Amino acid sequence: MSTRIVIASNNEGKLAELSAILAPLGFEAVPQSALGVPEADEPHHTFVENALAKARNCARHTGHAALADDSGLCVEALGGAPGVHSAYFAGRHGTRAERDRANNALLLERLEGVADRRAHYACVIVFVRGADDPEPVIVEGRWHGEIADTGRGAGGFGYDPCFLLPALGRTAAELSPAEKNRLSHRAIAVSLLAARLREGP
Ligand code: IMP
Repeated sequence: MSTRIVIASNNEGKLAELSAILAPLGFEAVPQSALGVPEADEPHHTFVENALAKARNCARHTGHAALADDSGLCVEALGGAPGVHSAYFAGRHGTRAERDRANNALLLERLEGVADRRAHYACVIVFVRGADDPEPVIVEGRWHGEIADTGRGAGGFGYDPCFLLPALGRTAAELSPAEKNRLSHRAIAVSLLAARLREGP
């Protein structure tokens, strides 16, 4: 029997990935929107603080254990930007798809003529057993790659068309969902979380 776990996110791309990764580990992911949880603010400067705020908000509203992920793209040549500001790098206007397109365009523009293309995705996952859990479980996964010269591929979400995996010669948007879910920062963080949860309370 699977254990229900509320996911503090309304990002469909993330929810689909987290559900697919958590299912074989015996967890049924329930999106917070299904339980009427309002989205928490993300005013902090680190992935950890934002993820913790989202997880506590979700647990407070539902009375259940909650899992939140805060993630983003960190580009070496930009001093780690867009980082925690990845979702709104190019501004807050438009739909999620329009923001993704504008973010990718701005990223490529900022890196025009820049030789150092190194970047990584970071994903911090926080799991709280309740809103005031004094010992939240915190894990981080990183996925290293480079920023491509132009966007390629239609899979994934966010910056995936620009995130090149040199060893594969493909961008994250050119991977199948199963491939991405095996390799990604989110997959690494979830498997660290699963190991921690298997250790017990
Ligand atoms: P969050 O909802 O504040 O965690 O925003 C994360 C943002 O980082 C997303 O909106 C994307 O722009 C970016 N991001 C995080 N993970 C991924 C990924 O797996 N692929 C592409 N973009 C990602």
